[in-house]
Amino acid sequence: MKIRDITSGAQPPEKFSNLKLGKEKTYAAGIPAVINSLKHVANYMSASAATKTMFKINQKGGFDCPGCAWPDPDDERSPLGEYCENGIKAIAEEAQRTTIGKTFFAKHSIAEMRQWSDFELGKKGRLAQPMVLNEDASHYVPISWNEAFQLVGDHLNALASPDDAIFYTSGRTSNEAAFLYQLFVREYGTNNLPDCSNMCHESSGVGLSTTLGIGKGSVTLEDLHEAEVIMVIGQNPGTNHPRMLSALEKCKQNGGQIITVNPLPEAGLMHFIHPQSPSKLISGGTPLTDLFLPLKIGSDIALLKAILKLLWKEERKSPGSVFDMDFIRTKTIGFNDFLVELESYDLNQLIEETGLPFELIQEAAVMIQHKKKIIICWAMGLTQHKFGVQNIREVVNLLLAKGSIGKPGAGTCPVRGHSNVQGDRTMGIWEAPKEEFLTKLEEVFDFVPPRKHGYPVVDAIKAMYHRNAKVFFAMGGNFLSATPDTEYTAKALQNCDLTVHVSTKLNRSHLIHGKKALILPCLGRTDVDIQENGAQFVSVENSMGVVHSSQGVLNPPSDQLKSEPYIVAGVAKATLAHNSKIDWTKMVSNYDFIREGIEKTIPGFEDFNTRIRKKGGFYLPNCNREQKFDTPSGKAHFTVNQLPDLSIKPGNFVMMTIRSHDQYNTTIYGMDDRYRGIYNERRVILMNAEDMQGSGLKVNDVVHLTNQFGGQTRRANSFKVVPFDIPRSCVATYFPEANVLVPIDSVAKKSKTPTSKWIEISVEKE
Ligand code: SF4
Repeated sequence: MKIRDITSGAQPPEKFSNLKLGKEKTYAAGIPAVINSLKHVANYMSASAATKTMFKINQKGGFDCPGCAWPDPDDERSPLGEYCENGIKAIAEEAQRTTIGKTFFAKHSIAEMRQWSDFELGKKGRLAQPMVLNEDASHYVPISWNEAFQLVGDHLNALASPDDAIFYTSGRTSNEAAFLYQLFVREYGTNNLPDCSNMCHESSGVGLSTTLGIGKGSVTLEDLHEAEVIMVIGQNPGTNHPRMLSALEKCKQNGGQIITVNPLPEAGLMHFIHPQSPSKLISGGTPLTDLFLPLKIGSDIALLKAILKLLWKEERKSPGSVFDMDFIRTKTIGFNDFLVELESYDLNQLIEETGLPFELIQEAAVMIQHKKKIIICWAMGLTQHKFGVQNIREVVNLLLAKGSIGKPGAGTCPVRGHSNVQGDRTMGIWEAPKEEFLTKLEEVFDFVPPRKHGYPVVDAIKAMYHRNAKVFFAMGGNFLSATPDTEYTAKALQNCDLTVHVSTKLNRSHLIHGKKALILPCLGRTDVDIQENGAQFVSVENSMGVVHSSQGVLNPPSDQLKSEPYIVAGVAKATLAHNSKIDWTKMVSNYDFIREGIEKTIPGFEDFNTRIRKKGGFYLPNCNREQKFDTPSGKAHFTVNQLPDLSIKPGNFVMMTIRSHDQYNTTIYGMDDRYRGIYNERRVILMNAEDMQGSGLKVNDVVHLTNQFGGQTRRANSFKVVPFDIPRSCVATYFPEANVLVPIDSVAKKSKTPTSKWIEISVEKE
């Protein structure tokens, strides 16, 4: 087995920061959330910025929280503040007081900065001016915007083919910037538009569109409040979508029940203390989960099939009392094949796969048996598996059997991560665009977009690794740290002639670069955006398909920052020059012009400029909400999904990468994970106490982790062992620290989503 070569600084440094362990929390939010939020505000923001932002975040006519894609209430929003602790951390991160420009970069070499942790890099401050790294240089130096645009244009025009360039998008990019970006990239001549959803909910998109005819969730926030049963599978909302806890609390108050399916007993799913409710603070809050199913990592299909078998058994006893046979007959196809396959499984074998006792699964079936208003919510715990698409399709099988689609209180709920990741896809940020979208672009903008599909993220990395792509352009994000197989990805980026990052803050992707590199500092979501025609607002789309406006309130931390649309227009003009059919200067003079283009091109955006000014925005059409299915058959599809092989070598473990409570994707807000009782350390591995004993390990022991896959050995050194309530032979580590162990070729079938939730590793004591 060949060991992966190591690039210094590609991985976070293997240095410990004095681990402290405390008791795991049994509830989320409460007073500690308020204290923690205030700490972040005090540490990083000015008082005036804090005051200005707190009363505008997620308010109608205010700005959208860049923290995640959880929707805001359609009706009244909390005057005290429509945000959560992690929303405040996201704002404190973006609205940092300090800025870094030429003086900072003159002082700190690439080599030095590579030794800093991701937390240290992110807290250096907001990027203040465009910087360039010349070939063989050790330090970034200032460059003017026009020179920077020309540098990109020259490199793009020097390529043998537009397909030799990669244009990545991170899900914070607004609709207007995303639409303009894809317009430029397609007029330039490629569909190489990979985005962060390739690595997260792509399995949801594929699983839902092939069964229900739309790649988005069907429920609204209101549906969650009136559901009879909500299953939360492979998701940790307490950290990743904290305001979801308010919706779960409302569901409970309305008599609903919650089933949690997760290898880890996440505090946020167990109990919630609403920090804005004095009565809840006094009474100790609301228990959320009614039934907790701590299954083995990856055994979701076995669990769902076991529940379906128990429900079918009851259905046969009293036909029509459990399955919605009328819905099945009139709205679906494939039920018989689904049933034959389901009946082929032995119930005990399925239950054994889950590692759960029969009684718990029986209890879940009983909770669902006579309910119709059923919602299933999920996140990466279902999508980042080899069988990620099948996981989603099995979820759909359960909802179809119950007829729980397109009714109030019922449906699918993939909870998106980045605040506009769904919007970016709606705007055309996709390497595999539909023909009707390209035809419409051609009609509206009078150029011929390319038809050859581009690279999703993992193929884009391979293309750079093999020098089939030589220019990498990233609209936001931290590509190196967010992607799998860190050392392979590092080589891929270093093989480029030019790497360009449009960013707000310093991150590791700026330090592992092509022969030449550019950092283009942009305005953040909280910043005021002035263009030729005055102050501009942008729009985003949340997880429930609501498109609403967002307008910054803070003076930008530097007068050299540009908006994302302005940067796209600058690069487009420098690259396409007089060959373009689009008036880029006009487009960014007033974003209404961009929205006019969106209105003419994308269904659901009729009268966009009027409707986007309506407080709270508008819902995009969603066929499933009307029990319509945009599938070839016009019906919802039951599917047959094989039980995956979860076997591993004796002594090995199944590792899943997770976020700490002080983290949003690769942005490290702080060094603590207070809900799990882990403080001041990120190089930890959560292990079952019996497995520790079996491996001769004790708390705080230092171990090295190894993955063997595809003839390659990947190693992640120096992790401290932490005993945790996790099923046997399952372990958890944080990303990006453990992303080096996720093989580039280990992806979900059909969606190519990296399998970050199911990686076989060995653990060796130092
Ligand atoms: S739930 Fe998400 S969008 Fe809402 S305030 Fe928290 S981080 Fe921001």
